[in-house]
Amino acid sequence: MVISGDICLEDVACPLNCPGEDEFVLTGCDMLHGSPGEFSVLKCRSCGLMRTSPRPTSDTIVSYYPPDYGPYVGTRIEQQSSSWFSGIKNLVRPLAMRVFDSKTEALPPMRPGRLLEIGCASGSFLHKMAGRGWQVEGVEFSKQPAEAAGRLGYKVYAGQMETAPEPVNPVDLIVGWMVLEHLMDPVGSLKKMNEWASPDAWLVLSVPNAGSIEFEIFKDKWYALQLPTHCYHFTPESLTKVLRLGGWELENIHHQRSVTNLIVSLAYVMESKGWKRLGKRLRDFAFAGGIFFYLLFPVAWVLAVFGQTGRMTVWARKRVDTSGPSLHTGSGSSGGKIEE
Ligand SMILES: [Zn+2]
Repeated sequence: MVISGDICLEDVACPLNCPGEDEFVLTGCDMLHGSPGEFSVLKCRSCGLMRTSPRPTSDTIVSYYPPDYGPYVGTRIEQQSSSWFSGIKNLVRPLAMRVFDSKTEALPPMRPGRLLEIGCASGSFLHKMAGRGWQVEGVEFSKQPAEAAGRLGYKVYAGQMETAPEPVNPVDLIVGWMVLEHLMDPVGSLKKMNEWASPDAWLVLSVPNAGSIEFEIFKDKWYALQLPTHCYHFTPESLTKVLRLGGWELENIHHQRSVTNLIVSLAYVMESKGWKRLGKRLRDFAFAGGIFFYLLFPVAWVLAVFGQTGRMTVWARKRVDTSGPSLHTGSGSSGGKIEE
């Protein structure tokens, strides 16, 4: 099916190969960039995993990632200013980040080793971890940010995870910040990561939490829905099953202490009611960070305690024995230890 220009759609089955039927959840459009098309979200009645179907094919989905796509811009390394003010900021920031820890990039305690970042964008996280003694490399689907990360001196494969080559040496830590939901074949990609990982490796992923109250309230106006670039919409339970089938055991869930999703979702609702200027101001406010992040932190903290913020960071361990039926027949619980 062709919807506009060169964009082709394809129907997608549940990646857990469930035999059951699907339930219709909602229809929505690209609220982030206003690109053409309407997309449906279906929920597998057997495993509960939600997916965008039909969705743009792997060849045509690239048009939904414009050059100003947020993560590409937000991960560029900026030149450090040498003013006294930025010097003070650099001194205060580590302390502020410790007190107001949003858990956005929460990592297991481990010694530096080999790190692979899936969806490394322009390379700021690779750069940070290299500074901490890690040997880093990345995979980035979009060519321009991949080249930007490469210019920092890091080995970055420009292409989709599904076609990425195996690292020369096994990796000890694999991270993917808000990337799993974008992958067209999450189970195949997780299996690949399992093969690339050392025996004690950790996998750390952040994903939107479609099991949160935010999704219940905002539905197609939920900021983290991001149709059609989000191919899957995970809850702690469905993510546990996908990880297990991909060869990983979920160990911890950190619900992120952030209300950015909530505020932008409110902005979407306002814009859809015709209050464009107010919506725009709210969006700008959500992304401005600064003092408002700190003022709203207690709200975010409380929501996170109850697992109701729109994003979660999960830690998973490599499964030693990935054979047998237990991979698919998950217990139905989120499995891992829940942390706010
Ligand atoms: Zn299923």
